[in-house]
Amino acid sequence: MGIEPTYSISFDAGTLTDEQRDGTACVACGTDLAVTGLPSVPVGVVKGAMVFACTRHTQDATAGKSSDWPGGEPRGVRTLEEIADDAQWALFEGIKRVERDHGPKASNVALRLIRAVVVDETVPEVEGIALLREVSRGEIDRAAARLDEIAG
Ligand SMILES: [Zn+2]
Repeated sequence: MGIEPTYSISFDAGTLTDEQRDGTACVACGTDLAVTGLPSVPVGVVKGAMVFACTRHTQDATAGKSSDWPGGEPRGVRTLEEIADDAQWALFEGIKRVERDHGPKASNVALRLIRAVVVDETVPEVEGIALLREVSRGEIDRAAARLDEIAG
């Protein structure tokens, strides 16, 4: 019952470090994503928590692999609209997953966080992603308190 990863990357769930399982480190190179602020994307779910990889690996993984994309084209020839559709779909699936795992309060906090980062720009992206990871692990009250503190 894991969400379908949007980006294709192979990793061995059994060999992940605690940081990689918590979603704070890249599953491919181990980089601490919270510290480096490198762009990252969800690439799967391990034991109920989303795991992430730097986009530089996922772009490599999808280049030229037409079967990864619904339209059959490699990513480079997809239109911006198609990429935006995929991103919205991934977001929708992520929110559904959070609600299924942790209830409506969790999905409400996740939506508020996304809004604060993307629409209101009251929460910096790096912190917003870190808080979303907490919500996906079920640390909802802590993330909500921090969100209230930053965004008011
Ligand atoms: Zn990486």
